[in-house]
Amino acid sequence: MQPLLQTVRISKYYPSGATVIRAVYGVSLLIKQGEFVAIRGRSGSGKSTLMNLLGLLERPDTGEYLLQGQAVAELGEDKRAALRRHAIGFIFQLPVLLPRATALENVELPLIYAGVPRPQRRRRAKDALDRVGLADRGHHWPSQLSGGEQQRVVIARAIVNDPALILADEPTGALDSGTSDEILSLFEGLHRDGRTIIMVTHANNVADRAQRQITLHDGRIVQGVGSSAGSSFAVVPS
Ligand code: ADP
Ligand code: MG
Repeated sequence: MQPLLQTVRISKYYPSGATVIRAVYGVSLLIKQGEFVAIRGRSGSGKSTLMNLLGLLERPDTGEYLLQGQAVAELGEDKRAALRRHAIGFIFQLPVLLPRATALENVELPLIYAGVPRPQRRRRAKDALDRVGLADRGHHWPSQLSGGEQQRVVIARAIVNDPALILADEPTGALDSGTSDEILSLFEGLHRDGRTIIMVTHANNVADRAQRQITLHDGRIVQGVGSSAGSSFAVVPS
């Protein structure tokens, strides 16, 4: 499989009083198309910062980031925003939906930004809702859905424009264990569909559901288990 993304010793620093926090420090990783990778580590280990770097929400202070072969760290903001819209689907801990839009309309949003004509938009949004098991909930308001159902709507919205990469930051962090299990099964299904997923979590039992685990500690990779797809290396030596 082709590499989807590669980072070479990327770092992100935050000033803190007289010192500097190395939120992400010299992280090199290679992720191939179709992988399901968990980034795990304790609270404060740099997981969200790394996810924000991979998702082009933040720029690294040092290092290289190649996404689909393109160096993206120094791209202009317009190009980075376009890549975020077209290439990446985001899922966060708390489902954020427009309260006055139906489930279907919420899923349609990325397609509106992408300029997809309405009939096609409807069909694709319905397909995405169907994929997450909510075909019959399209006309519900977010307030009429459970937390787990709202997170499924978010997942449908994240996959509706067929992004190259799905980034999920603690996607089950606010859910009970049964609902969490359903969401993880859904990720496993999306992985079987051939999608590339990077999931951040502090919980080992959640990380274990992914195909490969990378562990962060104080902003550094301390452990990266090899891909089951037979890759020669999972983590680029630094
Ligand atoms: P995790 O997601 O693993 O809990 P984070 O990436 O959120 O960790 O944070 C890593 C470190 O960077 C922490 O020490 C945190 O306080 C610090 N940090 C994260 N974001 C910022 C920010 N915007 N400003 C200052 N410090 C930050
Ligand atoms: Mg976090």
